[in-house]
Amino acid sequence: MAVNETYTTTNFIHNIIDEDNRTGKHGKRVHTRFPPEPNGYLHIGHAKSICLNFGTAIKYGGLCNLRFDDTNPSKEEVEYVDSIQQDVKWLGFDWENRKFYASDYFEELYQYAVELIKSGNAFVCDLTAQEMKDYRGSLTQPGTESPYRNRSVEENLKLFEQMKNGEFADGDKVLRAKIDMASPNLNMRDPVIYRILRATHHRTGNKWCVYPMYDFAHPLSDAIEGITHSVCTLEFEAHRPFYDWLLAAVNHPNRPQQIEFARLNLAYTMMSKRKLRALVEGGYVNGWDDPRMPTISGLRRRGFTPHSIRDFCDRIGVAKSNSVVDYALLEHCIREDLNVKAQRVMAVLRPLKVVIENYPEGKIEELTAENNPENEQMGVRKIPFSKVVYIEQEDFMEDPPKKFFRLSPGKEVRLKYAYIIKCEQVIKDETTGEVIEVRCTYDPDTKSGEALSARKVKGTLHWVSAAEAVKAEVRIYDQLFVSENPEDGEDYTANLNPASLVTLSECLVEPSLKNTMSGDNFQFLRQGYFTVDQDSTAGHPVFNRTVGLRDSWAKIQKA
Ligand code: ATP
Ligand code: MG
Repeated sequence: MAVNETYTTTNFIHNIIDEDNRTGKHGKRVHTRFPPEPNGYLHIGHAKSICLNFGTAIKYGGLCNLRFDDTNPSKEEVEYVDSIQQDVKWLGFDWENRKFYASDYFEELYQYAVELIKSGNAFVCDLTAQEMKDYRGSLTQPGTESPYRNRSVEENLKLFEQMKNGEFADGDKVLRAKIDMASPNLNMRDPVIYRILRATHHRTGNKWCVYPMYDFAHPLSDAIEGITHSVCTLEFEAHRPFYDWLLAAVNHPNRPQQIEFARLNLAYTMMSKRKLRALVEGGYVNGWDDPRMPTISGLRRRGFTPHSIRDFCDRIGVAKSNSVVDYALLEHCIREDLNVKAQRVMAVLRPLKVVIENYPEGKIEELTAENNPENEQMGVRKIPFSKVVYIEQEDFMEDPPKKFFRLSPGKEVRLKYAYIIKCEQVIKDETTGEVIEVRCTYDPDTKSGEALSARKVKGTLHWVSAAEAVKAEVRIYDQLFVSENPEDGEDYTANLNPASLVTLSECLVEPSLKNTMSGDNFQFLRQGYFTVDQDSTAGHPVFNRTVGLRDSWAKIQKA
Protein backbone atom coordinates (compact mmCIF):
# COMPACT_ATOMS: atom_id res chain seq x y z
CA MET A 1 0.00 0.00 0.00
CA ALA A 2 2.89 2.34 -0.16
CA VAL A 3 6.44 3.34 -0.25
CA ASN A 4 8.87 0.69 -1.16
CA GLU A 5 10.86 0.93 2.01
CA THR A 6 11.29 -1.37 4.92
CA TYR A 7 10.03 -0.11 8.22
CA THR A 8 12.44 -1.34 10.82
CA THR A 9 12.43 1.50 13.34
CA THR A 10 10.54 0.91 16.49
CA ASN A 11 8.96 3.14 19.14
CA PHE A 12 6.73 2.95 22.18
CA ILE A 13 3.62 2.67 20.01
CA HIS A 14 5.10 -0.34 18.27
CA ASN A 15 5.87 -1.81 21.67
CA ILE A 16 2.18 -1.47 22.56
CA ILE A 17 1.20 -3.14 19.29
CA ASP A 18 3.69 -5.96 19.85
CA GLU A 19 2.11 -6.58 23.24
CA ASP A 20 -1.42 -6.41 21.76
CA ASN A 21 -0.42 -8.89 19.09
CA ARG A 22 0.96 -11.18 21.77
CA THR A 23 -2.23 -11.10 23.80
CA GLY A 24 -4.50 -11.07 20.76
CA LYS A 25 -6.23 -7.91 21.99
CA HIS A 26 -7.42 -6.70 18.58
CA GLY A 27 -7.43 -10.13 16.97
CA LYS A 28 -3.82 -9.36 16.01
CA ARG A 29 -5.05 -6.76 13.55
CA VAL A 30 -3.32 -3.39 13.06
CA HIS A 31 -5.54 -0.74 11.51
CA THR A 32 -4.63 2.93 11.83
CA ARG A 33 -5.94 6.12 10.25
CA PHE A 34 -4.74 9.60 9.40
CA PRO A 35 -7.59 11.97 10.29
CA PRO A 36 -7.00 15.54 9.06
CA GLU A 37 -9.57 18.26 9.34
CA PRO A 38 -9.84 19.81 5.86
CA ASN A 39 -9.44 23.38 7.11
CA GLY A 40 -6.06 24.13 5.53
CA TYR A 41 -3.05 22.60 3.81
CA LEU A 42 -1.00 19.94 5.57
CA HIS A 43 2.27 20.90 7.24
CA ILE A 44 5.43 19.08 8.26
CA GLY A 45 3.81 18.18 11.59
CA HIS A 46 1.13 16.29 9.71
CA ALA A 47 3.89 14.51 7.80
CA LYS A 48 5.03 13.07 11.13
CA SER A 49 1.52 11.76 11.78
CA ILE A 50 1.18 10.42 8.22
CA CYS A 51 4.51 8.60 8.36
CA LEU A 52 3.66 7.19 11.77
CA ASN A 53 0.16 5.99 10.86
CA PHE A 54 0.89 4.65 7.38
CA GLY A 55 4.38 3.46 8.37
CA THR A 56 3.01 1.49 11.32
CA ALA A 57 0.42 -0.19 9.10
CA ILE A 58 3.10 -1.10 6.56
CA LYS A 59 5.43 -2.46 9.24
CA TYR A 60 2.73 -4.75 10.65
CA GLY A 61 1.10 -5.73 7.38
CA GLY A 62 -2.01 -3.82 8.47
CA LEU A 63 -4.15 -1.07 6.95
CA CYS A 64 -4.30 2.71 7.23
CA ASN A 65 -7.33 4.82 6.32
CA LEU A 66 -7.45 8.41 5.21
CA ARG A 67 -10.33 10.05 7.04
CA PHE A 68 -11.43 13.63 6.73
CA ASP A 69 -12.67 14.86 10.08
CA ASP A 70 -15.16 17.22 8.52
CA THR A 71 -17.47 18.06 11.39
CA ASN A 72 -16.99 21.82 11.29
CA PRO A 73 -18.56 23.04 8.03
CA SER A 74 -17.83 26.71 8.60
CA LYS A 75 -14.07 26.22 8.17
CA GLU A 76 -13.78 23.37 5.71
CA GLU A 77 -13.39 23.48 1.95
CA VAL A 78 -13.00 21.15 -1.01
CA GLU A 79 -9.72 22.85 -1.95
CA TYR A 80 -8.25 21.53 1.28
CA VAL A 81 -9.66 18.04 0.76
CA ASP A 82 -7.93 17.93 -2.63
CA SER A 83 -4.61 19.31 -1.44
CA ILE A 84 -4.50 16.88 1.49
CA GLN A 85 -4.93 13.89 -0.83
CA GLN A 86 -2.26 15.21 -3.17
CA ASP A 87 0.18 15.67 -0.29
CA VAL A 88 -0.37 12.23 1.25
CA LYS A 89 0.13 10.60 -2.16
CA TRP A 90 3.20 12.69 -2.87
CA LEU A 91 4.71 11.58 0.43
CA GLY A 92 4.41 8.07 -0.97
CA PHE A 93 1.42 6.63 0.87
CA ASP A 94 -1.68 4.94 -0.45
CA TRP A 95 -5.01 4.63 1.33
CA GLU A 96 -6.24 2.36 -1.50
CA ASN A 97 -10.05 2.32 -1.37
CA ARG A 98 -10.20 3.53 2.21
CA LYS A 99 -10.87 7.24 1.92
CA PHE A 100 -13.59 8.19 4.36
CA TYR A 101 -15.28 11.29 5.69
CA ALA A 102 -16.72 11.74 9.16
CA SER A 103 -19.64 13.27 7.27
CA ASP A 104 -20.27 9.82 5.72
CA TYR A 105 -21.39 8.84 9.21
CA PHE A 106 -23.65 11.79 10.06
CA GLU A 107 -26.78 9.64 9.96
CA GLU A 108 -25.17 6.88 12.01
CA LEU A 109 -23.75 9.39 14.48
CA TYR A 110 -27.16 10.95 14.91
CA GLN A 111 -28.55 7.49 15.73
CA TYR A 112 -25.82 6.95 18.31
CA ALA A 113 -26.79 10.24 19.93
CA VAL A 114 -30.40 9.04 20.07
CA GLU A 115 -29.14 5.83 21.70
CA LEU A 116 -27.34 7.86 24.33
CA ILE A 117 -30.51 9.79 25.10
CA LYS A 118 -32.49 6.56 25.38
CA SER A 119 -30.01 5.04 27.80
CA GLY A 120 -30.08 8.19 29.94
CA ASN A 121 -26.59 9.22 28.90
CA ALA A 122 -27.39 12.46 27.08
CA PHE A 123 -29.69 15.45 27.50
CA VAL A 124 -30.70 18.60 25.67
CA CYS A 125 -29.43 21.68 27.46
CA ASP A 126 -30.69 25.27 27.07
CA LEU A 127 -27.86 27.03 28.91
CA THR A 128 -26.10 29.71 26.91
CA ALA A 129 -22.42 29.27 26.09
CA GLN A 130 -21.51 31.73 28.84
CA GLU A 131 -23.73 30.02 31.40
CA MET A 132 -22.25 26.68 30.47
CA LYS A 133 -18.79 28.08 31.09
CA ASP A 134 -19.86 29.45 34.48
CA TYR A 135 -21.39 26.09 35.46
CA ARG A 136 -18.34 24.17 34.36
CA GLY A 137 -16.21 24.85 37.43
CA SER A 138 -12.44 24.80 37.26
CA LEU A 139 -9.52 22.49 37.83
CA THR A 140 -9.85 23.13 41.56
CA GLN A 141 -13.63 23.44 41.79
CA PRO A 142 -16.31 20.98 40.76
CA GLY A 143 -18.90 22.13 38.25
CA THR A 144 -22.61 22.65 38.81
CA GLU A 145 -25.24 20.49 37.17
CA SER A 146 -27.33 22.09 34.46
CA PRO A 147 -30.95 22.74 35.48
CA TYR A 148 -31.94 20.90 32.26
CA ARG A 149 -29.96 17.79 33.17
CA ASN A 150 -32.94 15.82 34.45
CA ARG A 151 -35.26 16.18 31.52
CA SER A 152 -37.10 12.96 30.73
CA VAL A 153 -35.92 10.67 27.93
CA GLU A 154 -39.11 11.47 26.00
CA GLU A 155 -38.60 15.22 26.25
CA ASN A 156 -34.95 14.90 25.25
CA LEU A 157 -35.82 12.74 22.24
CA LYS A 158 -38.43 15.22 21.12
CA LEU A 159 -36.18 18.26 21.59
CA PHE A 160 -33.23 16.63 19.83
CA GLU A 161 -35.44 15.78 16.88
CA GLN A 162 -36.67 19.38 16.81
CA MET A 163 -33.06 20.55 16.87
CA LYS A 164 -32.36 18.37 13.85
CA ASN A 165 -35.50 19.63 12.09
CA GLY A 166 -34.38 23.23 12.35
CA GLU A 167 -36.97 24.35 14.87
CA PHE A 168 -34.45 26.28 16.99
CA ALA A 169 -31.98 29.01 16.21
CA ASP A 170 -28.24 28.40 16.08
CA GLY A 171 -26.83 28.10 19.58
CA ASP A 172 -30.25 27.92 21.31
CA LYS A 173 -29.74 24.37 22.50
CA VAL A 174 -27.07 21.70 22.57
CA LEU A 175 -27.01 18.00 23.24
CA ARG A 176 -24.71 17.07 26.11
CA ALA A 177 -23.42 13.78 27.42
CA LYS A 178 -24.55 13.16 30.99
CA ILE A 179 -21.46 12.06 32.89
CA ASP A 180 -20.19 13.78 36.02
CA MET A 181 -20.03 17.51 36.77
CA ALA A 182 -17.68 16.78 39.68
CA SER A 183 -15.16 14.83 37.63
CA PRO A 184 -11.59 16.05 38.08
CA ASN A 185 -11.35 15.80 34.28
CA LEU A 186 -13.10 18.83 32.75
CA ASN A 187 -13.77 16.84 29.56
CA MET A 188 -16.04 14.55 31.57
CA ARG A 189 -18.26 17.36 32.90
CA ASP A 190 -21.20 16.77 30.62
CA PRO A 191 -19.42 17.72 27.38
CA VAL A 192 -21.39 19.07 24.43
CA ILE A 193 -21.78 16.43 21.71
CA TYR A 194 -24.12 18.15 19.23
CA ARG A 195 -24.70 21.78 18.34
CA ILE A 196 -27.05 23.65 16.05
CA LEU A 197 -25.24 25.34 13.19
CA ARG A 198 -26.63 26.57 9.90
CA ALA A 199 -23.70 26.30 7.56
CA THR A 200 -23.38 24.68 4.16
CA HIS A 201 -21.23 21.57 4.42
CA HIS A 202 -18.84 20.86 1.55
CA ARG A 203 -20.30 17.36 1.18
CA THR A 204 -23.74 17.24 2.79
CA GLY A 205 -24.81 20.73 1.72
CA ASN A 206 -27.73 21.99 3.78
CA LYS A 207 -29.03 18.59 4.77
CA TRP A 208 -28.02 19.04 8.40
CA CYS A 209 -28.35 21.92 10.81
CA VAL A 210 -27.00 19.94 13.75
CA TYR A 211 -23.38 18.85 13.72
CA PRO A 212 -21.56 16.43 16.04
CA MET A 213 -18.61 17.76 18.02
CA TYR A 214 -15.17 16.40 17.20
CA ASP A 215 -14.89 14.53 20.52
CA PHE A 216 -18.13 12.71 19.75
CA ALA A 217 -17.53 12.02 16.06
CA HIS A 218 -13.93 10.92 16.31
CA PRO A 219 -14.15 7.83 18.58
CA LEU A 220 -17.28 6.65 16.80
CA SER A 221 -15.68 7.10 13.36
CA ASP A 222 -12.69 5.09 14.58
CA ALA A 223 -14.99 2.35 15.88
CA ILE A 224 -17.12 2.28 12.72
CA GLU A 225 -14.00 1.81 10.59
CA GLY A 226 -12.60 -0.94 12.81
CA ILE A 227 -9.54 1.08 13.76
CA THR A 228 -7.39 -0.76 16.31
CA HIS A 229 -4.86 1.89 17.33
CA SER A 230 -6.04 5.49 17.23
CA VAL A 231 -2.84 7.49 17.32
CA CYS A 232 -3.10 11.19 18.14
CA THR A 233 -1.11 14.02 19.69
CA LEU A 234 -0.60 14.58 23.42
CA GLU A 235 -3.19 17.30 23.88
CA PHE A 236 -5.85 14.62 23.46
CA GLU A 237 -4.64 12.66 26.45
CA ALA A 238 -7.26 14.26 28.70
CA HIS A 239 -9.93 13.40 26.11
CA ARG A 240 -9.18 9.67 26.25
CA PRO A 241 -11.55 9.00 29.22
CA PHE A 242 -14.41 10.44 27.15
CA TYR A 243 -13.31 8.42 24.11
CA ASP A 244 -13.55 5.22 26.17
CA TRP A 245 -16.70 6.31 28.01
CA LEU A 246 -18.52 6.97 24.74
CA LEU A 247 -17.72 3.62 23.10
CA ALA A 248 -18.74 1.84 26.29
CA ALA A 249 -21.95 3.91 26.59
CA VAL A 250 -23.09 2.93 23.08
CA ASN A 251 -21.70 -0.56 23.70
CA HIS A 252 -19.80 -0.55 20.45
CA PRO A 253 -18.31 -3.96 19.54
CA ASN A 254 -15.06 -2.32 18.36
CA ARG A 255 -12.88 -0.66 20.98
CA PRO A 256 -9.99 1.16 19.35
CA GLN A 257 -7.22 2.18 21.70
CA GLN A 258 -6.24 5.83 21.71
CA ILE A 259 -2.47 6.34 22.03
CA GLU A 260 -0.96 9.82 22.34
CA PHE A 261 2.46 10.93 21.10
CA ALA A 262 4.35 14.23 21.14
CA ARG A 263 3.63 16.57 18.27
CA LEU A 264 6.43 17.85 16.12
CA ASN A 265 7.61 21.35 16.91
CA LEU A 266 10.25 22.81 14.66
CA ALA A 267 12.38 25.81 15.54
CA TYR A 268 11.59 29.02 13.59
CA THR A 269 8.39 27.39 12.41
CA MET A 270 4.75 27.83 13.28
CA MET A 271 2.54 24.83 12.87
CA SER A 272 -1.11 25.59 13.11
CA LYS A 273 -3.29 25.45 10.02
CA ARG A 274 -5.33 28.33 11.37
CA LYS A 275 -2.30 30.59 11.74
CA LEU A 276 -0.74 29.49 8.47
CA ARG A 277 -4.03 30.33 6.81
CA ALA A 278 -3.85 33.81 8.31
CA LEU A 279 -0.38 34.25 6.74
CA VAL A 280 -1.81 33.29 3.35
CA GLU A 281 -4.92 35.42 3.65
CA GLY A 282 -2.97 38.36 5.05
CA GLY A 283 -0.63 38.31 2.05
CA TYR A 284 2.47 37.74 4.20
CA VAL A 285 3.44 34.86 1.91
CA ASN A 286 2.59 34.00 -1.69
CA GLY A 287 0.07 31.26 -1.06
CA TRP A 288 0.02 27.95 0.78
CA ASP A 289 2.82 26.59 -1.38
CA ASP A 290 5.15 29.53 -0.85
CA PRO A 291 8.57 27.85 -0.49
CA ARG A 292 9.01 29.53 2.90
CA MET A 293 5.93 27.82 4.30
CA PRO A 294 6.28 24.69 6.47
CA THR A 295 3.44 23.15 4.47
CA ILE A 296 4.09 19.96 2.54
CA SER A 297 3.24 21.84 -0.65
CA GLY A 298 5.67 24.61 0.31
CA LEU A 299 8.44 22.14 1.05
CA ARG A 300 7.73 20.38 -2.25
CA ARG A 301 8.02 23.66 -4.15
CA ARG A 302 11.17 24.46 -2.19
CA GLY A 303 12.72 21.26 -3.58
CA PHE A 304 12.32 18.82 -0.71
CA THR A 305 11.84 15.22 -1.82
CA PRO A 306 9.31 12.80 -0.30
CA HIS A 307 12.23 10.60 0.73
CA SER A 308 13.89 13.41 2.68
CA ILE A 309 10.71 14.16 4.61
CA ARG A 310 10.10 10.50 5.44
CA ASP A 311 13.72 10.22 6.53
CA PHE A 312 13.29 13.28 8.75
CA CYS A 313 10.14 11.83 10.35
CA ASP A 314 12.02 8.61 10.97
CA ARG A 315 14.96 10.34 12.63
CA ILE A 316 12.95 12.55 14.96
CA GLY A 317 11.32 9.44 16.40
CA VAL A 318 8.12 9.15 18.38
CA ALA A 319 8.12 10.19 22.01
CA LYS A 320 5.76 10.85 24.87
CA SER A 321 7.04 14.31 25.76
CA ASN A 322 7.09 17.50 23.73
CA SER A 323 10.30 18.97 22.40
CA VAL A 324 11.49 21.31 19.67
CA VAL A 325 13.40 19.85 16.74
CA ASP A 326 16.34 21.76 15.26
CA TYR A 327 15.59 23.05 11.76
CA ALA A 328 19.10 21.98 10.75
CA LEU A 329 18.02 18.34 10.96
CA LEU A 330 15.40 18.85 8.27
CA GLU A 331 18.01 20.52 6.06
CA HIS A 332 20.46 17.72 6.77
CA CYS A 333 17.93 15.17 5.49
CA ILE A 334 17.38 16.92 2.18
CA ARG A 335 21.12 17.44 1.68
CA GLU A 336 21.76 13.75 2.24
CA ASP A 337 19.15 12.78 -0.31
CA LEU A 338 20.09 15.33 -2.95
CA ASN A 339 23.79 14.69 -2.53
CA VAL A 340 23.38 11.38 -4.32
CA LYS A 341 20.49 12.38 -6.60
CA ALA A 342 21.04 15.93 -7.78
CA GLN A 343 23.00 16.72 -10.89
CA ARG A 344 25.87 19.18 -10.40
CA VAL A 345 25.74 22.21 -12.64
CA MET A 346 27.36 25.62 -12.80
CA ALA A 347 25.36 28.76 -12.16
CA VAL A 348 26.59 32.26 -11.41
CA LEU A 349 24.23 34.16 -9.17
CA ARG A 350 25.91 37.59 -9.23
CA PRO A 351 27.93 37.65 -12.45
CA LEU A 352 31.29 39.36 -13.00
CA LYS A 353 32.67 39.41 -16.54
CA VAL A 354 36.05 37.79 -17.17
CA VAL A 355 37.81 38.22 -20.54
CA ILE A 356 40.63 35.77 -21.26
CA GLU A 357 42.92 37.87 -23.43
CA ASN A 358 45.09 35.10 -24.88
CA TYR A 359 42.19 32.76 -25.67
CA PRO A 360 41.38 32.70 -29.40
CA GLU A 361 38.44 34.85 -30.46
CA GLY A 362 35.48 32.78 -31.64
CA LYS A 363 36.81 29.47 -30.35
CA ILE A 364 34.43 27.26 -28.36
CA GLU A 365 35.68 24.19 -26.52
CA GLU A 366 33.34 21.49 -25.32
CA LEU A 367 34.64 20.48 -21.90
CA THR A 368 33.63 17.39 -19.97
CA ALA A 369 31.86 17.91 -16.65
CA GLU A 370 30.87 15.28 -14.10
CA ASN A 371 27.17 15.10 -13.35
CA ASN A 372 27.64 13.80 -9.82
CA PRO A 373 30.93 12.80 -8.22
CA GLU A 374 28.93 10.86 -5.56
CA ASN A 375 27.12 8.82 -8.18
CA GLU A 376 29.18 7.78 -11.19
CA GLN A 377 26.18 6.28 -12.96
CA MET A 378 24.91 9.79 -13.57
CA GLY A 379 27.66 10.19 -16.16
CA VAL A 380 29.07 13.32 -17.72
CA ARG A 381 27.96 16.19 -19.93
CA LYS A 382 29.59 18.77 -22.17
CA ILE A 383 29.85 22.43 -21.27
CA PRO A 384 31.10 25.18 -23.57
CA PHE A 385 34.17 27.29 -22.77
CA SER A 386 35.15 30.47 -24.59
CA LYS A 387 37.02 33.76 -24.38
CA VAL A 388 34.42 35.52 -22.24
CA VAL A 389 33.12 33.86 -19.11
CA TYR A 390 31.33 34.98 -15.97
CA ILE A 391 32.38 34.23 -12.43
CA GLU A 392 30.77 35.08 -9.10
CA GLN A 393 31.35 38.69 -7.97
CA GLU A 394 32.32 37.46 -4.52
CA ASP A 395 35.03 35.27 -6.04
CA PHE A 396 37.06 38.35 -6.94
CA MET A 397 38.67 40.84 -4.58
CA GLU A 398 40.93 43.68 -5.53
CA ASP A 399 42.53 43.94 -2.08
CA PRO A 400 42.10 40.48 -0.63
CA PRO A 401 42.87 39.45 2.95
CA LYS A 402 45.65 36.91 3.45
CA LYS A 403 43.74 33.68 3.10
CA PHE A 404 41.65 34.62 0.08
CA PHE A 405 42.34 31.85 -2.41
CA ARG A 406 40.03 33.09 -5.10
CA LEU A 407 40.79 35.57 -7.85
CA SER A 408 42.69 38.81 -7.20
CA PRO A 409 45.21 40.89 -9.16
CA GLY A 410 48.30 38.86 -10.13
CA LYS A 411 46.84 35.64 -8.65
CA GLU A 412 45.83 32.37 -10.28
CA VAL A 413 42.75 30.18 -9.89
CA ARG A 414 41.40 27.17 -11.73
CA LEU A 415 38.14 27.44 -13.58
CA LYS A 416 36.41 24.13 -12.82
CA TYR A 417 36.75 21.58 -15.66
CA ALA A 418 38.75 24.18 -17.65
CA TYR A 419 42.06 25.99 -17.23
CA ILE A 420 44.11 27.94 -14.75
CA ILE A 421 43.66 31.65 -15.31
CA LYS A 422 45.63 34.61 -13.96
CA CYS A 423 44.24 38.05 -13.24
CA GLU A 424 46.11 40.68 -15.23
CA GLN A 425 43.95 43.78 -15.02
CA VAL A 426 40.87 45.17 -13.35
CA ILE A 427 38.40 47.43 -15.15
CA LYS A 428 36.18 49.70 -13.09
CA ASP A 429 33.16 51.82 -13.70
CA GLU A 430 34.50 55.35 -13.99
CA THR A 431 31.83 56.99 -11.91
CA THR A 432 31.08 54.37 -9.26
CA GLY A 433 34.49 52.72 -9.00
CA GLU A 434 32.81 49.32 -9.04
CA VAL A 435 34.74 46.45 -10.65
CA ILE A 436 32.89 45.64 -13.86
CA GLU A 437 35.34 43.40 -15.67
CA VAL A 438 38.46 41.39 -15.00
CA ARG A 439 41.07 40.76 -17.70
CA CYS A 440 42.92 37.47 -17.42
CA THR A 441 45.26 35.16 -19.31
CA TYR A 442 44.99 31.38 -19.31
CA ASP A 443 47.66 28.70 -19.28
CA PRO A 444 46.85 26.34 -22.20
CA ASP A 445 48.86 23.56 -20.55
CA THR A 446 46.51 23.27 -17.61
CA LYS A 447 43.39 21.84 -19.19
CA SER A 448 41.47 19.76 -16.63
CA GLY A 449 41.72 16.01 -17.08
CA GLU A 450 44.81 16.13 -19.26
CA ALA A 451 48.23 14.84 -18.24
CA LEU A 452 49.83 18.25 -18.29
CA SER A 453 47.23 19.73 -16.01
CA ALA A 454 48.98 18.51 -12.86
CA ARG A 455 49.96 22.03 -11.83
CA LYS A 456 47.89 22.95 -8.77
CA VAL A 457 46.45 26.19 -7.50
CA LYS A 458 44.52 26.68 -4.28
CA GLY A 459 41.22 28.03 -5.58
CA THR A 460 38.74 26.52 -8.01
CA LEU A 461 35.86 28.65 -9.24
CA HIS A 462 32.59 27.90 -10.98
CA TRP A 463 31.81 29.92 -14.12
CA VAL A 464 29.65 30.05 -17.22
CA SER A 465 30.55 30.87 -20.80
CA ALA A 466 29.04 34.24 -21.74
CA ALA A 467 27.74 33.45 -25.21
CA GLU A 468 25.89 30.27 -24.26
CA ALA A 469 24.79 31.13 -20.73
CA VAL A 470 21.08 31.24 -19.97
CA LYS A 471 19.63 34.06 -17.96
CA ALA A 472 17.72 32.91 -14.92
CA GLU A 473 15.98 34.12 -11.81
CA VAL A 474 17.05 32.64 -8.51
CA ARG A 475 15.08 32.95 -5.28
CA ILE A 476 17.05 32.64 -2.08
CA TYR A 477 15.06 31.87 1.03
CA ASP A 478 15.78 32.30 4.69
CA GLN A 479 13.66 31.40 7.71
CA LEU A 480 10.19 32.93 7.52
CA PHE A 481 10.49 34.02 11.15
CA VAL A 482 13.38 35.58 13.01
CA SER A 483 12.53 34.03 16.34
CA GLU A 484 12.95 30.41 17.25
CA ASN A 485 9.41 30.31 18.57
CA PRO A 486 7.37 32.52 16.21
CA GLU A 487 4.35 32.34 18.50
CA ASP A 488 6.22 34.11 21.31
CA GLY A 489 4.75 37.51 21.98
CA GLU A 490 1.37 38.93 21.13
CA ASP A 491 1.50 39.00 17.38
CA TYR A 492 3.44 36.44 15.39
CA THR A 493 3.48 38.68 12.34
CA ALA A 494 5.86 40.92 14.30
CA ASN A 495 8.33 38.02 14.22
CA LEU A 496 8.33 37.69 10.43
CA ASN A 497 11.76 37.90 8.80
CA PRO A 498 11.82 40.85 6.38
CA ALA A 499 14.70 39.21 4.49
CA SER A 500 13.12 35.78 4.09
CA LEU A 501 13.10 36.12 0.29
CA VAL A 502 15.84 37.60 -1.88
CA THR A 503 15.23 37.52 -5.63
CA LEU A 504 18.24 37.58 -7.94
CA SER A 505 17.08 38.25 -11.47
CA GLU A 506 20.40 38.61 -13.33
CA CYS A 507 21.76 35.12 -12.76
CA LEU A 508 23.50 33.16 -15.51
CA VAL A 509 23.32 29.39 -15.66
CA GLU A 510 24.98 26.85 -17.95
CA PRO A 511 23.09 26.09 -21.18
CA SER A 512 22.07 22.57 -20.10
CA LEU A 513 19.56 24.27 -17.78
CA LYS A 514 17.70 26.08 -20.53
CA ASN A 515 14.70 23.77 -20.64
CA THR A 516 14.50 22.08 -17.29
CA MET A 517 11.32 20.77 -15.80
CA SER A 518 9.57 22.21 -12.81
CA GLY A 519 10.54 20.18 -9.76
CA ASP A 520 13.96 19.06 -11.04
CA ASN A 521 16.69 19.29 -8.41
CA PHE A 522 20.25 20.47 -9.02
CA GLN A 523 23.32 21.28 -7.06
CA PHE A 524 24.78 24.58 -8.19
CA LEU A 525 28.48 24.03 -7.54
CA ARG A 526 29.61 25.82 -4.37
CA GLN A 527 26.16 27.40 -3.92
CA GLY A 528 23.73 24.80 -2.67
CA TYR A 529 20.78 22.79 -3.87
CA PHE A 530 18.22 24.41 -6.15
CA THR A 531 14.99 23.31 -7.73
CA VAL A 532 13.16 24.52 -10.82
CA ASP A 533 10.10 26.55 -9.90
CA GLN A 534 6.74 26.34 -11.62
CA ASP A 535 7.09 30.02 -12.56
CA SER A 536 9.72 29.10 -15.18
CA THR A 537 8.89 29.91 -18.79
CA ALA A 538 10.39 28.50 -22.00
CA GLY A 539 14.07 29.40 -22.08
CA HIS A 540 13.88 31.37 -18.82
CA PRO A 541 14.19 29.14 -15.79
CA VAL A 542 13.35 30.22 -12.26
CA PHE A 543 15.08 28.42 -9.41
CA ASN A 544 14.34 28.15 -5.71
CA ARG A 545 17.21 27.57 -3.38
CA THR A 546 16.27 24.49 -1.38
CA VAL A 547 19.19 24.65 1.02
CA GLY A 548 22.80 25.82 1.13
CA LEU A 549 25.71 23.39 1.20
CA ARG A 550 26.95 23.97 4.72
CA ASP A 551 25.64 21.28 6.98
CA SER A 552 25.31 22.74 10.43
CA TRP A 553 23.58 19.56 11.66
CA ALA A 554 26.50 17.30 10.74
CA LYS A 555 28.72 19.78 12.60
CA ILE A 556 26.57 19.65 15.73
CA GLN A 557 26.73 15.86 15.65
CA LYS A 558 30.51 15.80 15.40
CA ALA A 559 31.12 18.36 18.13
P1 ATP B 1 -3.52 22.23 13.17
O1 ATP B 1 -3.64 22.97 14.44
O2 ATP B 1 -2.26 22.49 12.46
O3 ATP B 1 -4.71 22.36 12.31
P2 ATP B 1 -4.57 19.77 14.00
O4 ATP B 1 -4.05 18.76 14.96
O5 ATP B 1 -5.75 20.54 14.41
O6 ATP B 1 -3.38 20.70 13.61
P3 ATP B 1 -5.68 17.94 12.16
O7 ATP B 1 -6.05 18.14 10.76
O8 ATP B 1 -6.75 17.67 13.14
O9 ATP B 1 -4.83 19.17 12.59
O10 ATP B 1 -4.55 16.83 12.28
C1 ATP B 1 -4.56 15.58 11.65
C2 ATP B 1 -3.62 14.69 12.39
O11 ATP B 1 -2.30 15.23 12.36
C3 ATP B 1 -4.01 14.58 13.85
O12 ATP B 1 -3.94 13.22 14.21
C4 ATP B 1 -3.00 15.42 14.57
O13 ATP B 1 -2.76 14.95 15.85
C5 ATP B 1 -1.77 15.29 13.66
N1 ATP B 1 -0.90 16.45 13.81
C6 ATP B 1 -1.21 17.74 13.64
N2 ATP B 1 -0.16 18.54 13.91
C7 ATP B 1 0.86 17.72 14.26
C8 ATP B 1 2.22 17.93 14.67
N3 ATP B 1 2.74 19.15 14.77
N4 ATP B 1 2.97 16.83 14.93
C9 ATP B 1 2.46 15.61 14.81
N5 ATP B 1 1.19 15.34 14.45
C10 ATP B 1 0.40 16.37 14.18
MG1 MG C 1 -7.50 21.11 14.20
